Amino acid sequence: MDEFITACPRNCYSTCTFRVQVEDNRIIRVLPYKGNKSVPEGPCIKGLSYIERSSSPDRIIYPLIRKKDGSFMRFPINEALDIISSRLAEIRDRYSSQSILWYRGSGMSGMTNEIGYSFWRAFGGTTITYGNLCWPAGLEAVKLTLGSNKHNVPWDIPNAKTIIIWGKNPAETNIQEISFIAAAKTKGAMVVIIDPVRTPTADIADIMFSVRPGTDAALALSIAKLLIEKEFTDVNFINKHVSGFEDFRDTLQITPARAEQITGIPAADIIELADIIGKGGPVTFLPGYGLQRHLNGGQTIRAILALAILTGNIGKPGSGFNYANLQSYVFDDVKEPDSYYPDHVKDSPFRRSISMASLGRDMLDTVNPELKSAFVERGNPLLQLPDSGNVRKAFASLEFKVVIEQFMTDSAALADIILPAKNMFEQSDIVGSYWSPYVQFKPKITEPPGEVMPESEVYYELSKRLPLNLQEGLIPEPGNQNIEKWLEKRIKGYSEINLDDLRHGPLIAPGAQEIAYSDFKFETKSGKIELFSQEARDRWNVSPLPEYIPVLNYESGDKTSLVLITPNAGSRIHSQFGNLKIIRENSEVPALLISPDDADKRKIFNGNRIRIFNASGDLFTIAKISNRIPSGCVMLPNGIWLHEGGGGNLLIEGRETDMGFGAAFHDTRVEVEPAE
Ligand code: SF4
Repeated sequence: MDEFITACPRNCYSTCTFRVQVEDNRIIRVLPYKGNKSVPEGPCIKGLSYIERSSSPDRIIYPLIRKKDGSFMRFPINEALDIISSRLAEIRDRYSSQSILWYRGSGMSGMTNEIGYSFWRAFGGTTITYGNLCWPAGLEAVKLTLGSNKHNVPWDIPNAKTIIIWGKNPAETNIQEISFIAAAKTKGAMVVIIDPVRTPTADIADIMFSVRPGTDAALALSIAKLLIEKEFTDVNFINKHVSGFEDFRDTLQITPARAEQITGIPAADIIELADIIGKGGPVTFLPGYGLQRHLNGGQTIRAILALAILTGNIGKPGSGFNYANLQSYVFDDVKEPDSYYPDHVKDSPFRRSISMASLGRDMLDTVNPELKSAFVERGNPLLQLPDSGNVRKAFASLEFKVVIEQFMTDSAALADIILPAKNMFEQSDIVGSYWSPYVQFKPKITEPPGEVMPESEVYYELSKRLPLNLQEGLIPEPGNQNIEKWLEKRIKGYSEINLDDLRHGPLIAPGAQEIAYSDFKFETKSGKIELFSQEARDRWNVSPLPEYIPVLNYESGDKTSLVLITPNAGSRIHSQFGNLKIIRENSEVPALLISPDDADKRKIFNGNRIRIFNASGDLFTIAKISNRIPSGCVMLPNGIWLHEGGGGNLLIEGRETDMGFGAAFHDTRVEVEPAE
């Protein structure tokens, strides 16, 4: 039996380090690794499920090609690659290379993902997506204000006296953070949660405030007004490090009484919350990503961040605004969120004109050239993108679709050719984290089964067949030793870090600050924290000051329909893991959470099959009546496959957030009725 140290490459805060034991080329055990201070207690159930996932009988391990009758048949890899290269060349020559959409999701992170860019550039370019489904409105908001995205290390959380968990559910989506919150509680910290839903995280909080979805900015701005009126601000900090304070102060108009009308939180509770924040320093804010997946998402994050700024909770132990810590993204050529921008150069190798948020509609509307083909890796766009009815229509209309996948997802099921994807143990890579400061090596541990071929080798083989004129070394030759040489070359500019050291375990990224901004240097234009941001106006056409923009019409709009929220669940990373036996046995049956009041009005009983619908479409699932969801909202977890009763994105319009090119998933209203 051999043992290896590796890192989980999922799109997940924790980027856990763990040990895996291997016997006969099979993962037989997953164990904690204590050397990563962010995750000493080890992986979550998804990490443990790698034992099943890596050798699941459902895994696709041979190429599959669609037959005339619509079913798939196994096909030799060399012949599949021959067909793909000749079809891609034919489509490029007939319609232009930009008639091919190269779609990349976030299924597996790692430096080797860059290799695809070299291939498609040499191919002559392609159409790619801009924007991101997850977090860019908030990334942009923080960058506009603080100049960069970083926060204190997770193990600083126990130094906080007050922890404000705002729209985040770490008990399911960042479980390792819970140990640090618990340690802070043991030392006497107060834990506050602000969320529409009483999540499992709320169960460990001292106090909860249930806010209406999309109204968080109104709550934050009313608290900001109270903090200033009650003189809870850190005047020295503001004088030294903040620009735009007076402008911000002078625009604050939302009183607690007005905030109550907007947010649904009683005015007295809002005053109490302002007191908790004002008196309870150091305060650590733990904002989530859901609250910025709104049309007003960027401005909402700016408004909440203002509370940390007014109270001087930046740059000190136990304080901070822990949105995203990109300090270990040192090797990225383009740092988030700039990498999500559409290409400004018209004739660049990629025509980045298609928005991730409205991909279906954009694909259908794209002309000169029209899209004829798609090449999909690390993603499941048919399930995970908003407006998924149009996404399906757009993909179905293409002449030729290739999907690289491990399992028969909704997207793979629509492909003409499926190539079997590697799993995390089958090729070496280097990964960063967006929560902890570690850079990690993920070694090759097992041989891929069947005819599984890592994407880098797929690109190598296609480039030989086409053939492409590639600069040497851009796409490594097959073989893991060549990937490791390529990785070594990529990091050689960093004298503090090398592959040999990384093999022994995670390393803190060069230059990472344990206490972010402890030098009080801010990479904004003014060199200060910018409460007033001219750039926000110039780039996004929003107010230069944080503001509340109503998006769900609670006061004037439709009062009968329900706000649909589709958060991430603990048992899945988006649409991954839900197909595994261990996950199914340990999680609830997918269902729509509805309040007793709303269920009663619609004559829906617990466990009823129901229809959820709006102008975009409808879907059927099971109702779960719960006091955890407030009246007026329903909740369907993200990532549930269509045949399981999921697919909430069918009901969600494809719209961009106010900044950052994110997707406004949570501004959706639906109706629910018992199914026939
Ligand atoms: S999914 Fe997240 S929490 Fe679970 S093992 Fe991977 S990185 Fe850790």
